[in-house]
Amino acid sequence: MTAKTLGILGGGQLGRMSAMAAARLGISCVIFCPEENSPASQVVQKTIVADYTDEKAMSEFSKIVDVISYEFENIPVKTVAFLQNLKPVYPDEKLLNVAQDRIAEKTYLNEMDIPTTRWAALKSPEDITKTLSEWDTDEAIIKTTRFGYDGKGQARISSDTDIETLWSQFKNQELILEEIVDFDCEISVIIARDTNGKSEIYGPMVNEHKNHILDRTKMPCPLNEGIQEQAKVAAHKLADDLNLIGVLTLELFVTKDAEGNMDILANEIAPRTHNSGHWTIDACAVSQFENHVRTVCGLPVAPAGRHSDCEMINLIGDDAKPDNTLQYIAAENTCLHLYGKAEIRDARKMGHVTILK
Ligand code: AMP
Repeated sequence: MTAKTLGILGGGQLGRMSAMAAARLGISCVIFCPEENSPASQVVQKTIVADYTDEKAMSEFSKIVDVISYEFENIPVKTVAFLQNLKPVYPDEKLLNVAQDRIAEKTYLNEMDIPTTRWAALKSPEDITKTLSEWDTDEAIIKTTRFGYDGKGQARISSDTDIETLWSQFKNQELILEEIVDFDCEISVIIARDTNGKSEIYGPMVNEHKNHILDRTKMPCPLNEGIQEQAKVAAHKLADDLNLIGVLTLELFVTKDAEGNMDILANEIAPRTHNSGHWTIDACAVSQFENHVRTVCGLPVAPAGRHSDCEMINLIGDDAKPDNTLQYIAAENTCLHLYGKAEIRDARKMGHVTILK
């Protein structure tokens, strides 16, 4: 049965764009988030503003929706566990658990024979020194296992890092150490899988970051077919193993050895639509957001093909000031998206532009 009302946990721009895609299909959305006037709630008729631990509000939410999804991975697993006793929640708890914790994520990827950079779980500052010596290097990246995004919750270790001081900066947090990947480029693939087990893939896309935040994404991908296929195979493997209903994104590094041979290393799994897929709204008949809505609402996944080549540019902080967006307003084949965030802040994703080629 097709759901008529979709409940979305989270009020950010990903929820906003899923709700807009749902509207096109005649599906209405209810947003559940702790913030007033969130980007997603601005485009739906009903929002429940409550904390993710408020069971009374969650019960009320579950009564007015047919199915529930989420638009960011830091929703407490307890919230999803509570709600899935009341209404179906997609993607399910297993994916959320894996995606929320870098150690669980890397363990799972390696179990699935999907290579990652070398890593170690850290319990003490001595673990850092021991691991660096095992890896025969004095450089690495330390990351919190949870709640890191856009480069937050991570630091680079080099030969002059004082390990004790660094450890105290991260005190009381679970940590992972990762070997630094000397990557050629960063790519991502987005897979949508429906209740019949059929899936469609967007990408791979090549992603360029500035200050750890996605800056631009280009389609098509200039990498050789073999590498592109490896990334797609990895995404299919994960989606099938997890029995995914909904969308997941796999972020990968592409490495190149001295002979020019390329390979992939998985970096992260996001249990949701992704910034690197925003171009699909304007360059595809059916976007990542529509396929998110379709797959969680019991509709068939639609082909992910694109009708145009394109480039997506993120509008971060002041990029979204009217003076700076003017260049896009009347430009040809240029699709401006603003997320309705009240306040411009440094490093805040305010919108994006897709330029069709
Ligand atoms: P993450 O939060 O893991 O997605 O990391 C944010 C960004 O930091 C990535 O997109 C990379 O540009 C960079 N980064 C993260 N981990 C590594 C690594 N092990 N080696 C090199 N660069 C990394």
